[in-house]
Amino acid sequence: MATATIIDGKQFAARLRAGIAAQVTRLKADHDLTPGLAVVLVGEDPASQIYVRNKGLQAREAGMDSIEHRLPATATQAELLARITELNRDPAVNGILVQLPLPKQIDPQAVIEAIAVAKDVDGFHPFNAGLLAVGGTGMIPCTPLGCLMLLKDRLGNLAGQRAVMLGRSNIVGKPMAALLLREHCTVTIAHSRTRDLAEECRRADILVAAVGKAQMVKGDWIKPGATVIDVGINRIPTPDGKGRLVGDVDFTSAVEVAGAITPVPGGVGPMTIACLLLNTLTATCRQQGIPAPKVRPVAG
Ligand code: NDP
Repeated sequence: MATATIIDGKQFAARLRAGIAAQVTRLKADHDLTPGLAVVLVGEDPASQIYVRNKGLQAREAGMDSIEHRLPATATQAELLARITELNRDPAVNGILVQLPLPKQIDPQAVIEAIAVAKDVDGFHPFNAGLLAVGGTGMIPCTPLGCLMLLKDRLGNLAGQRAVMLGRSNIVGKPMAALLLREHCTVTIAHSRTRDLAEECRRADILVAAVGKAQMVKGDWIKPGATVIDVGINRIPTPDGKGRLVGDVDFTSAVEVAGAITPVPGGVGPMTIACLLLNTLTATCRQQGIPAPKVRPVAG
């Protein structure tokens, strides 16, 4: 039986970060500018702490300034909004990211809407979401942007492809569907109320799964030869008690049917952080009225 090509997101992301670092070096030399990324973490969520540390580390490795802002789990919404106002005004800060999820007392939407549109490197602000929907030039959410890069690297022109987006969240599903539409795919968005999920998925030349349900998409849901992008990150129990990360796609059965597939881990995850750095570079240039460079992945 045929076995799918594994799309190596880890390696692609490393080459993308090297391309970003080269452009950061050039920005410093030509314009005396260093992109600044502020990452805000509220509380002590262990997974969020790891994400925030990695984002800071990789930003610095790419030559950027990265400033971590930590607030206690008891911080009020007013305190967080006050911090965001400071960051919006700070000229050394070009990108602001507030790590989600937030503690219960804080409304994430109010926080997202408080971030200056030009510094919204997550691309979650409704203004940026609107620009994506109408085909304008805004900030594109990092995970969908990373997925699109992997797809274009694998398939080239996506025009006319039948794409199914499984999941309709504001941070992955909806912006991913908008990007696929922008690339002239015929897009179906499937979700928890979709009548026959397996049947919808089986029609897809491109299947992107972002549901948050471990190994839900089975091999017999996949059209032979399709390109499968697995966004899901789920921890499942293992006998040693440590647990193991798996995607929303059942990799073992899917790899026998798909033409190409992203693994979990090592697929979409590393692309998300690389695209955060790309957005920070883009935001810095736009804020200074400099054309944003076309970043190409290069050997590190
Ligand atoms: P959300 O929980 O916000 O959205 C999940 C979506 O999946 C919803 O639209 C929901 O439908 C749909 N869904 C849930 N259960 C089912 C089901 N049984 N059948 C069909 N549809 C279903 O999740 P996110 O979009 O934020 O994240 C999805 C996954 O991606 C998670 O595992 C998350 O950890 C991962 N993730 C990974 C990232 C990365 O960097 N690799 C970044 C962001 C997320 P409905 O709207 O009808 O409720």
